[in-house]
Amino acid sequence: MARVFVITGPSGVGKGTLIRNLLSRVPTLELSVSATTRKPRGDEQDGVHYHFLTDEEFASKVAEGAFVEHADYSGRRYGTLRSELERRTADGAPVVLEIEVQGARQVRETLPDAVQVFIVPPSAEALRERLVGRGTDSPEDVERRLLVAEEELTARDEFQYQVVNDRLEDAVAELEQIVSRELPQR
Ligand code: ADP
Ligand code: 5GP
Repeated sequence: MARVFVITGPSGVGKGTLIRNLLSRVPTLELSVSATTRKPRGDEQDGVHYHFLTDEEFASKVAEGAFVEHADYSGRRYGTLRSELERRTADGAPVVLEIEVQGARQVRETLPDAVQVFIVPPSAEALRERLVGRGTDSPEDVERRLLVAEEELTARDEFQYQVVNDRLEDAVAELEQIVSRELPQR
C-alpha cells in the first residue's frame, strides 16, 4: 500500500488551504476526493471537491462496505471511498486524506501505517475568525462547527504529529518537512 497521509483538525483551521499549498510543493501527492451528503457550496463541483451523494446513495454505499471510513459531522455524512483510495494509490502515489477526527480514528485502526497529522488553531478566537471570514457557512453552521471543534481539540494528543497553523508559510513548511521525513525516497 502506498503512503497515506491523514490531515485532520477542526473545521476552519486551514486544512484545505494547507493541503493546497502542500500539493503545489510536492506534486507527487494526490488528494483523495471524499463523498458527502452535504450540498455543494460556492463553486464546488461534483467529483472535484467531493462526490456529492444523496442520503440514500450514501447509506447504500455504507451497506456495501464501500467506505474505508465514514462519519457524521454537523448533521451530514462524510466518507472516504475505498475505490477512490485504491485508484489513486494503484501506481504507488502517496495520497492525502482531509478528514475529521472520528474518521481519522477509524483510519488509525484500518490503516495503522498511515501518517496522522492534527492541525491546531493558534487560538479559539482565530478559529472563529477564520470560519466566519471564509464566508461559506451560515451563522448557525459556524456555531455548530465551533461546538464540534471544542470536542475535536481534546483529541489532538492522540495524533503522531501536531502542526499549529498560525503563520501559513510556517505551517506549510512544517507539513512539507513531515512529508519529507515520511517519504524519504521523494
Ligand atoms: P478547513 O479546510 O480546515 O475547514 P480552510 O482551509 O477552508 O479550513 O480555511 C478556513 C479559512 O481560514 C479560509 O478563509 C482560509 O483562507 C483561512 N486561513 C487558513 N490558514 C490561515 C492562516 N494560517 N492564517 C490566516 N487565515 C488562514
Ligand atoms: P466541509 O463541510 O467543511 O467540507 O467538511 C466538514 C468536515 O468534514 C471537515 O472537518 C472535513 O475535514 C471533514 N471531511 C471531509 N471529507 C471527509 C471524509 O471523507 N471523511 C471524514 N470522516 N471527514 C471528512
